[in-house]
Amino acid sequence: MRTAVSELDMTSASSLDEALRALRDEKRTPIAGATDLYVALNFGTLEQRKFLDIWAVDELRNISERGDMLVLGALATYTSMIRSPLVVKRLPMLVEAARQVGGAQIQNRGTIGGNIANGSPAGDSLPVLAAADAVVVLRSADAERRVPITEYYTSYRASVMRPDELIVAVEIPPVEGKQWFRKVGTRAAQAISKIVVAGVRSAEPRISFGSVAPTVMRVPLTERALASGAGIDEAVRVLAQEIAPIDDIRSTAEYRLRVATNLLRRFWTETA
Ligand SMILES: Cc1cc2nc3c(=O)[nH]c(=O)nc-3n(C[C@H](O)[C@H](O)[C@H](O)COP(=O)(O)OP(=O)(O)OC[C@H]3O[C@@H](n4cnc5c(N)ncnc54)[C@H](O)[C@@H]3O)c2cc1C
Repeated sequence: MRTAVSELDMTSASSLDEALRALRDEKRTPIAGATDLYVALNFGTLEQRKFLDIWAVDELRNISERGDMLVLGALATYTSMIRSPLVVKRLPMLVEAARQVGGAQIQNRGTIGGNIANGSPAGDSLPVLAAADAVVVLRSADAERRVPITEYYTSYRASVMRPDELIVAVEIPPVEGKQWFRKVGTRAAQAISKIVVAGVRSAEPRISFGSVAPTVMRVPLTERALASGAGIDEAVRVLAQEIAPIDDIRSTAEYRLRVATNLLRRFWTETA
C-alpha cells in the first residue's frame, strides 16, 4: 500500500552547511529529485520517515572544471549534463547515458548524486563513472573525503557513505581515448537496463558493465587481455568467465551474458 505522505516528516535546507548539520543532528534521509524515492513511496516500501529536501542547495548544482578535473555537483540533473558544453566535450559517454535515462521528466529531476546513492546495479551513469575512473566526494559536517567509484559500493545497493554524509560532487579526471556507451533495455525510453556498458578505447582500455553483478563492475581481466593485444574472440572468452549475470524479472542470465559479449565486440569494432 502507498505510504501516506502525512506520515512523513520533511524539512528542507537552503545551504550545504544547513543540510550537513541536519543530517548529523536530526538523522534525516536526503531527497534530491525524488525520482527514486517516490517509487518506493508509491509501492509502500519506503522505510524512512524523516527526510531532508536538498533540492534548493544551489552549491551542489554546478558543473565546472577544477584544475584538470571535471566536477559534477551532486544535484546536476540529466538535462543539465546533456546541455553542458563541458560534459559534451569531456565526457560524451555520460551525455549518451543521460539521454537514455527515463523520459524528459525524469531527466529534469533525476540527479547524478541520486543515481550514485541509489546504487542500483542498473543505474545508467554508473558504468560511465567507473570507466572514467571517477571519484565520489563525500562530505559531513566535520570532514570531506574522496572515494573512487570502483571502491564506493560494498555490496548490492550498499556503499561506504555514512548516514551523516552527503555526496556533494563527483570528480572526473581527463579521459584519453574514444568513449563508447550502450544500454540495452526493453525499449528505447523509460526502460531500466537489462545490460549497460561504457568503454574507453586507449592503450589500456577501460570497460565497465551494469546489471551483470550486484554492483557496477569494471572487468579488469578483459581489459588486461585487450591491453596485451589479445584478439576480440579471446577477450570475449575472458569476459564470459569474468561476469556472472543473474536471472531476474528483467532478463535471464543467459540473455545478459550473450548481450554483454556482443556489446564487447561492438565496442571494440566501433572504436577501432
Ligand atoms: C519512470 C522512471 C524512469 C527511470 N529511468 C531510469 C533510467 O533509465 N536509468 C537510471 O539509471 N535510472 C532511472 N530511474 C531512476 C532515477 O531517476 C535515477 O536513479 C535518478 O538519478 C535518481 O536521482 P534523484 O535525485 O531523483 O534521487 P532521489 O530519489 O532524490 O534519491 C535517491 C536516493 O539517493 C539518496 N540521495 C540523493 N541525493 C543524494 C546526495 N547528494 N547524497 C547522498 N544521498 C543522496 C536519497 O536519500 C535516496 O536514497 C528512473 C526512475 C523513474 C521513476
